[in-house]
Order: sequence, then structure tokens, then C-alpha cells
Amino acid sequence: MTSIQQTDPEIAAIIVREEARQKGEVNLIASENIVSDAVLAAQGSVLTNKYAEGYPGRRYYGGCEVVDEAEEHARSRACELFGADHANVQAHSGTQANIAAYSALISPGDPVLAMDLAHGGHLSHGAKVSLTGKIYNFHHYPVSQQDEMIDLDLVRKMAHEVSPALIVAGASAYPRIIDFAGFRSIADEVGARLMVDMAHIAGLVAAGVHPSPVAHADVVTTTTHKTLRGPRSGLILCRKKWRKKIDSAVFPGGQGGPLMHQVAARAVCFREAMTDSFRDYARQVVENSVQLGEILSAGGLRLVSGGTDNHMILADLRSMDLTGDIAEAALGRAGIVVNMNMIPYDPAPPRRPSGMRIGTPTVTSRGMGTAEITRIGEMILEVLRNPQDQNRIEGIRAQVREMCEQFPTRI
Ligand SMILES: *Cc1c(COP(=O)(O)O)cnc(C)c1O
Repeated sequence: MTSIQQTDPEIAAIIVREEARQKGEVNLIASENIVSDAVLAAQGSVLTNKYAEGYPGRRYYGGCEVVDEAEEHARSRACELFGADHANVQAHSGTQANIAAYSALISPGDPVLAMDLAHGGHLSHGAKVSLTGKIYNFHHYPVSQQDEMIDLDLVRKMAHEVSPALIVAGASAYPRIIDFAGFRSIADEVGARLMVDMAHIAGLVAAGVHPSPVAHADVVTTTTHKTLRGPRSGLILCRKKWRKKIDSAVFPGGQGGPLMHQVAARAVCFREAMTDSFRDYARQVVENSVQLGEILSAGGLRLVSGGTDNHMILADLRSMDLTGDIAEAALGRAGIVVNMNMIPYDPAPPRRPSGMRIGTPTVTSRGMGTAEITRIGEMILEVLRNPQDQNRIEGIRAQVREMCEQFPTRI
């Protein structure tokens, strides 16, 4: 920091302010987390200076013998952590990992079946505005209108209609356990390949608190910065037979040189995820989420699908006569950060959706447990019942600040 202060006081001040913001707010963004000082240190290291196009032992640059070892550690730890045959640790992000996986598994124009974006899927699962939606012929399955959960009978029916070359399972806004074995049997029935994007739940899978897709899928993609609590990056796990295609789809297929500081930070993250304390954290993430869901629904807020099995809750704000934009803004003024979100079969437009998404990874990483999450749930309800009451919201803001003081953002 001192060197930034001397060189660039403007950016130094921004970093200081952002750290203060993170410290003083209750962050319930389901896709965010806080990394350890060890992960932070690897990312801020001189490994950033190294070009290393290629893979360990087969680089297009000299001087790679040291960083080769970092990538070997990252790959072998990822395989050990998730029980995979092969790991590619170079994708710059989750979206890059998905683009590489598609290009390894299928050809342009091929039909693909993935979860509807408006029902919890991700942009990189074939949204019209995404490159993925332009290159491949995506079809999308909804969740059931009755219980708002994935309906495998419906997925099977669509798979028979569409005859996809690839089925994609995984979501960005789905609070329930996903039955990967069920998806595998559908893929087998229609002769499709199966890709699972576990970006949101990777940390829960690593800790064994969500079933693993690795034995069922041809390829598993993920981010490493959500529940897995690592650097911002992508990871691809695959069966032996896909190894070559996946590696060449990442480099030279879609990327140039890997970010070796980020590769090293992934290695640190995977080592941390093997520890008992990480498993305790992941269990607590789910416990906090379930507890928060119970408090909110007891207070009259309807939860999509009726509850949660993972780190996130999707709330239907119509049950409190609110829309996502208003709830997000009012909670934000109270120092509670969430994001507005579409809910399945949402009649409202995306800029004013009926729902909000709430997640417990960050607060759990800070050490908040059942008592704190219960209090947070009560504060959320109080704000949602009085979104225009500025005095009351300021009172809650003060309580949030006081609570946050006891829980560090550096771990
Ligand atoms: C977050 C997410 C991604 C994309 O990650 P980026 O690193 O932001 O590109 C991909 N798939 C799913 C399901 C996600 O939730």
C-alpha cells in the first residue's frame, strides 16, 4: 500500500475506501466472498511478471521452471480436492472456462440444452447477448411452475425434443440441490454430453455439503471466487478423454498467456479448501442460509421454492408489496447489500424484478454465526416493512456498523 500511496494517491485512497466499505457493511451478495491474506499475497506477487504460454514442461517461453511448479501444484490439488482426472487452471474467469468447455465438447451451431437465464441460469449458458448464444443453438429448460424446482421429467422431455449435443446443468440463482446423476441419465438417454457449471456451489462441493458432479459430468467448470473463496478465476475439471481438447481450447483456443499470480493463488485456495476449518465454514454457510430463510419466511417473505439447501435464498418481494429495485436500495441505505433478481415466471421487467437474491458466504467467512444471521434477518424484515422510513433505516445502519466492527474482513 505504501508504494501505491506514493505513486498514485488517488487509487490508494480508493482502495482504503473500498476496504472500509467492505468492513462496515453486511454483504449478502451470493456470488461474493472474502479471500484469505495468503490468497491475496499470491495475487499481489511477482509471479504477475511472468509470461508462460503453454503448459508445464511445454511452454513457449524460457524461464518458466519455477512457475511451472506453481501450476503443477494448482492442477494436482484441484484434482485431489474434487476427485477429478484432469484440471485446467488457466481460464481467466468462469465465463472463459465455459467458452473453452463448449468449444472442446461441441461444434458451432450444435443444439444445447441449459437452464433458462430468467429461472436461475447464467449469461454464459446461451443468453442472446452472450457470444455463447450466438455460436451455439441453445434451448432452455425452466423450473417447475408448481414448486419452482428443476423438474427432471420436463428436462427429459425437452432433451428428447431438442436432441442436444450437450446438456448443461448448474445455475447462478437456484437455492436447491441439483441432481447431477439425474442429468447424467438424461444425457445418456439422448446421447448428449453433460457439462456441469458449479460456479456458485464449488466450495460446498469441495467441503462435501453439496453432492459432487465430478463423477457424472464429462466436464465440470467453475469459478474459484464464489463459495470456494479463492482468487477471481476459472477452473475446468474433466475426464481423461477430454484432457487434450480442454487444454487446447483454453490455450491457444481462447486465451494467450496464463496469469501465473492467479494460478498460484488458485493453488493456495485449493490447499485451504482441504482443511477442517474450510469444511466448518462451508457447513456454517448452509446453516446460516437455512436459518436466515426461516427468519425471513416466518416474517412473511415468500422464499422461491419454499426454502434453501445451499448458500443462497431467492425471495419473492411481492409477498411484501415490494420490487427488487426498491428493496435493494432500501437495504443498501441500511448497510445490507443484496442484489435484485428475477424470480421464475417473473411478470415484472428485469430492471424492476420481483425478487432479490441473498447469500451467506461473505458473512460466514467473517465469522458470523446463527445469532448474527438471526439479527440480520430481523433487520432485513424491518427495512422491508419500512422502506421509506429514513429515521428507522438510519438506526439500522448504525446497528449494522456496530455489528460489523466485531467481524474482520481479513482472514
Ligand atoms: C458466476 C458464474 C459464472 C461466471 O463467472 P465469471 O467469472 O463472472 O465469468 C459462470 N457460471 C455460473 C453458473 C456463475 O454463477
